[in-house]
Amino acid sequence: MATICGTVLLGVWPAQAAPEKKANNAPAETKSMKAIFAERKDTFEKVSALTGIPWYYLAAVDQYERTINLAKKRTVDNTTTGIYITELQWCGMMNPDHEDTVEASIALFDGMGRDGSGDGLADRKNGLDVLYSMAMYMLKRGTAQEDLRIGLWEYYQNTRSVERIQQFAGIYSKFDTLDLHEHTFVMPLKADYTYRSTWGASRGWGGFRIHEGTDLFAGYGVPVRSATYGIIEVMGWNPYGGWRVGIRDLSNVYHYFAHLSGYSKEVKQGDIVKPGQVIGWVGSSGYGKPGTSGKFPPHLHYGLYRDNGLTDWSFDPYPFLRKWEREERLRSKK
Ligand SMILES: [Zn+2]
Repeated sequence: MATICGTVLLGVWPAQAAPEKKANNAPAETKSMKAIFAERKDTFEKVSALTGIPWYYLAAVDQYERTINLAKKRTVDNTTTGIYITELQWCGMMNPDHEDTVEASIALFDGMGRDGSGDGLADRKNGLDVLYSMAMYMLKRGTAQEDLRIGLWEYYQNTRSVERIQQFAGIYSKFDTLDLHEHTFVMPLKADYTYRSTWGASRGWGGFRIHEGTDLFAGYGVPVRSATYGIIEVMGWNPYGGWRVGIRDLSNVYHYFAHLSGYSKEVKQGDIVKPGQVIGWVGSSGYGKPGTSGKFPPHLHYGLYRDNGLTDWSFDPYPFLRKWEREERLRSKK
């Protein structure tokens, strides 16, 4: 169970998890995760000292890889890092020895493998070696932010991956910790709201195909809050969603808030937010040109989308809303 718990808390979005069952033993898990996060940060700082790459960049690559491992159901049997380097990437395409651990011959075949742990071996199964090898790859073009971006692009060949890693790095850098997986409910618990499971149905407001979200009904002006640590990726008008906000979290999940009546002056696109932070207010904007409002009762449409590296796909927010609501209530009782 230990490894499963680890995956759950780091990836946070298991496809078939039953969130309802997890609340009781949450404190014990949180404590052990704190220790794991602290250990990991130590490792990133170690590799940072060796390479000059800020720890939060290494943390961001590591976390991005963990979210992709989860989305692709890729198994990485390494507790130090989630970074996945294939055998051929490690030893070099033309290298006849696929399990080569000699730096010099790996280098000869243009492989990525390096020795970061100092034991004389470039071992693909050693987490420190993997992190160090990734860091050295990123450094190919230089140490400036722009150089790291190019290094990452060359590795992933994908602008989307680079953007995610930049976003994650920004979040880690702001809070100076890896322990950023707590959630809150999307409205103040004392507010007057109601919601039920409306995902995938044509029951919701505005679901002309499948309804990709949960509708939370509340009065105009009820505060709408970020559920997570994350970055505001999108903010502005959209013909269906009205005034909407999109927040990307460290699990590579996009939180979509629609039909707001307005935005908090405290936040703008690109800002880093934390759980419970007010981003706007419940309204009924949408279904027309900018400013259109009142075509349906005021409510928050809340959607969740997971990035699998190529595209975003919607999943049901309802069980998570219930879980965060319950967890927040438990915390406030303490
Ligand atoms: Zn809706």
